[in-house]
Amino acid sequence: MTKENETTQTGWSLDNSYTQLPKTFFSVIDVNPVRSPKLVVLNDTLASSLGLDAQQLRKAEEIEVLAGNRVPEGAAKIAQAYAGHQFGHFTMLGDGRALLVGEQITPSGDRFDIQLKGSGRTPYSRGGDGRAALGPMLREYIISEAMHALGIPTTRSLSVVTTGETVNRETGLTGAIMTRVAASHLRVGTFEFAAQWGSEEDLRSLADYTISRHYPHIEASENRYLSLLRELIRRQASLIAKWQLVGFIHGVMNTDNMTISGETIDYGPCAFMDVYDPETVFSSIDVQGRYAYKNQPPIGGWNLARLAETLLPLLHKDQDEAVNLAQKELTDYIEVYRSNWLAGMRAKLGIMNKEAGDEALIEDFLSLMHKYRADYTNTFRALTADQLENMDLFKAPEFAEWQKRWHDRLDKQSESKEASRDLMRSSNPAVIPRNHRVEAALEAAGQGDFIVMEKLLKALSDPYAYSAEQAEYADLPEPTLRPYRTFCGT
Ligand code: AMP
Ligand code: MG
Repeated sequence: MTKENETTQTGWSLDNSYTQLPKTFFSVIDVNPVRSPKLVVLNDTLASSLGLDAQQLRKAEEIEVLAGNRVPEGAAKIAQAYAGHQFGHFTMLGDGRALLVGEQITPSGDRFDIQLKGSGRTPYSRGGDGRAALGPMLREYIISEAMHALGIPTTRSLSVVTTGETVNRETGLTGAIMTRVAASHLRVGTFEFAAQWGSEEDLRSLADYTISRHYPHIEASENRYLSLLRELIRRQASLIAKWQLVGFIHGVMNTDNMTISGETIDYGPCAFMDVYDPETVFSSIDVQGRYAYKNQPPIGGWNLARLAETLLPLLHKDQDEAVNLAQKELTDYIEVYRSNWLAGMRAKLGIMNKEAGDEALIEDFLSLMHKYRADYTNTFRALTADQLENMDLFKAPEFAEWQKRWHDRLDKQSESKEASRDLMRSSNPAVIPRNHRVEAALEAAGQGDFIVMEKLLKALSDPYAYSAEQAEYADLPEPTLRPYRTFCGT
């Protein structure tokens, strides 16, 4: 995909390739102006990598853009159509509170969707008001930026503005709009929408568009749609392994919240696990534990099966053959996931090559962490820093036995102890966005104090630094703040 067009003084250089798709995939919408937009956080680094001038973005007329009161030259102004399986049930959705401004072409020629979340009602809003509250938008800002710094593919956050209006939830809350930056907003749910309500030609257009936008290297392959499925399986397997390795729980892995680019999207009731427990669920609405930590890898497979179903008409003209082809790819998923996860776990333990006993060594350690209710991040952090104090786990005789096995394993590899330690340092974050810290930042922001959040964002921006300033962010919450519960950010 290429594009040549005007660049505004601020650096907006927008293209709208998505609007070349059949009209069924989107609705053109009007702006829904808000009363008095005020910028509360701007991501200078991201702005500059997008080719945007952060100083300009702070000016009143550009804050109007970030609030959706006005769009830059060349903007599209659309809401995207999509469907989705929500907690297992199929339904029609679409952008009910988002405006896709367009695709920003960066100075290096990359293409990113610019989307305003909380921008007002659209034809897909159903009963919703199309708006968002400050707390959940800042939460998405903090956690998505933390994920990016952890090296996990994710949508990012350019800014949050308050609207000067109140949104009515259980109480009246400060209204806000977040600018989200994504490789694209194509979702598994976009394909489900096409398969359910579009023609086969619509579906093919969507698949071709996806390949040209995200996977151009498979354009010439023999069965490009099968190659697409394979790529998506690989991307999701890799992504979900990365979530598991840092203890991230997405919370609502509905198919409309799973991207085709392989980026994490939609930070609603997500959170990072503290005590290691595979059953951990944070979301208040996930009463069955469908999206519990341990279920994330199989749910990824379930979602990919829904995706594969949509692609069947493109995979082969004979339906049985199409099903066979899809099934063959899908059976690889857990295997690919597992090998990504194992590679990541070896790195977390400083292991640089493969041995048959590694899996048992890793699993035994996780069992010990579970038994002694060890904090997931801090345990690996302590091993990395070689500071094994203050945790019940490290005082247990079973740990001493395990530690000997681990040291023996490390002794067997030819690489130096330093190399092994460096690998651990770059694989085990010193800091993650702990729930109580995020809540404290949001609470202060709600009172107009953004310093707590700025400090937290700074600590999270280089999670592998092991700096002195990060130490306080490793503290655990008071027991009264547990168990932690999250709520969908509407
Ligand atoms: P989410 O839980 O953010 O993934 O949203 C699920 C669906 O509900 C999407 O179609 C959203 O656009 C829509 N939605 C969420 N909140 C609102 C709202 N306040 N107004 C209208 N639509 C909404
Ligand atoms: Mg969503």
